[in-house]
Amino acid sequence: MITNDPNPLYTPHPDRYNHIKYQRCGRSGVLLPRLSLGLWQNFGAANSQANARAMLRKAFDEGICHFDLANNYGPNYGSAEQTFGNIFKQDFAHHRDELFIASKAGYDMWPGPYGKGGSVKYLVSSCDQSLARTGLKYFDVFYHHCMDPETPIEESMRALDYIVRSGRALYAGISNYRPEQTQEAISVLKSLGTPLLVHQPRYNMFDRWIENGLTDILLTEGIGSIAFSPLAQGVLTNKYLNGIPANSRAARPEIIHLGNNDITAEKLEKVKQLNAIAESREQSLAQMAIAWTLLNPAVTSCLIGASSTEQITDCLAALTNPEFNEKDLLNINAIIR
Ligand code: NDP
Repeated sequence: MITNDPNPLYTPHPDRYNHIKYQRCGRSGVLLPRLSLGLWQNFGAANSQANARAMLRKAFDEGICHFDLANNYGPNYGSAEQTFGNIFKQDFAHHRDELFIASKAGYDMWPGPYGKGGSVKYLVSSCDQSLARTGLKYFDVFYHHCMDPETPIEESMRALDYIVRSGRALYAGISNYRPEQTQEAISVLKSLGTPLLVHQPRYNMFDRWIENGLTDILLTEGIGSIAFSPLAQGVLTNKYLNGIPANSRAARPEIIHLGNNDITAEKLEKVKQLNAIAESREQSLAQMAIAWTLLNPAVTSCLIGASSTEQITDCLAALTNPEFNEKDLLNINAIIR
């Protein structure tokens, strides 16, 4: 139980589905919110459980009904799924059918030959562990987190097909697969009878790799996509413009994916220029960065992370100012090209 909660009984906002837009995920029947919430950071064992709970409630109250997990989110590995499971049991169990919940496996998770990669053995065992940690009966989508060069794509896709057919997940997804790997995964899954629902790639103004082939494949094949790290982990906001604030992701030593060295003077100069364009559009840079990713026609939903409810509120406002005029787009392109 989460103790010292000033509001132990949670009733979701009755108007929650009138706030944001929902978009079809590729050519499937699934609608996803244009903004989704990921639990990679800030939901681990060492983070405030009350804050984690407040963020999940805030998101759901605003119509964000898609939450993204993975076996290794924490720290420690598995602890974000445990946090989610505890909160789910208390606040969301009666709303299971309103939620689209994802998990993944692919990166190293436990010692020995079966604790990472793309084998049927690892992916099915890990999915079972994730179900146990979250207390869910099934995931809405289960992803292969990254392509394993030592496992044939046929085997990893066979694992996803089995996970779906056995009722552990409703849909299959892949993440971080390159264009040619994606094409192969699509055709193997099609032949198995479990079509690929969604691809989850990194996509933001500083990382546009999906525009080189992947976007075209997804649009042609009718596969949705969920763009992760749209704020480049917080760099595409105004937070680092005057140094590295305490408690920001770049200041936390346990976070190995973003450090002082990633906040270079060259990058900050671009952020400063982008921030000026955002101000002229009367929105925060975070909002502009999110709106920019959603311009890509292949992007179904933009997958943010957050460390506070205020950040979720700020990010949501991106959806109220989504249009860009040609001049803004040209200026942005000139900065980020
Ligand atoms: P973002 O790029 O959205 O970065 C989130 C961070 O940005 C927050 O933790 C916060 O930093 C800062 N931030 C968020 N909103 C604001 C705001 N309005 N103003 C100022 N700062 C803000 O996404 P993540 O990198 O966290 O990734 C999002 C999700 O994508 C993950 O939770 C995960 O579900 C998924 N993901 C998937 C991967 C994959 O391989 N498939 C890999 C990585 C992520 P701070 O904490 O400093 O306050």
